[in-house]
Amino acid sequence: MVIMKPALLRLMAVLGLLAPAALCAVPKPDIITRSEWGALEARPYREQTPARFTIHHSAVHFTKERDAATHIKNIQTWGMGEARNWTDIPYHFIIDPNGKIFEGRNLLVEGESNTDYDTSGHVQINLLGNFEEQEPTAEQLRAAVALMAWLSRQHGIPTDTIKTHRDFASTLCPGKNLYRLVENGFFQKEAAKLTRPAK
Ligand SMILES: [Zn+2]
Repeated sequence: MVIMKPALLRLMAVLGLLAPAALCAVPKPDIITRSEWGALEARPYREQTPARFTIHHSAVHFTKERDAATHIKNIQTWGMGEARNWTDIPYHFIIDPNGKIFEGRNLLVEGESNTDYDTSGHVQINLLGNFEEQEPTAEQLRAAVALMAWLSRQHGIPTDTIKTHRDFASTLCPGKNLYRLVENGFFQKEAAKLTRPAK
């Protein structure tokens, strides 16, 4: 048996020499694990089957220069403390302005919210920043699209399920500058492009 190097496989894919199934693979984006950002251990909570994507912002102005890992750890510590008594950080993934993706709570565990809606089945994705005031960065948008395309393929979640917190609850989240990109179909269209089988 001949073992083929990834570069050769890519070349063959470009040349159309591989079966369609191989062409459909959506690459896994780099994800910073919980142990890498120093997460506290989660407490048990309700299980879920991921079925849709829901986008949030952190509502705190954030820049590329700030230390995202420390900020995320602070969100977790605050949320698991007296303020909210959540079982973990409430989001499944967090994306900083440099486009770095951080692993949040287990995808198979339901998210938690300080607003009133049924969070079961929602894949909760938080982009760090206050998008009522600032714009998401290009790196952040690219990472969010790549992440959702990969999860879509892994878990069979349709890309047209991409919505935001304010579609389900009374909140400004994810801020008007991020909401616009869901409303105008940018995220749904870009994620679908990555998951579409190559012709
Ligand atoms: Zn939110």
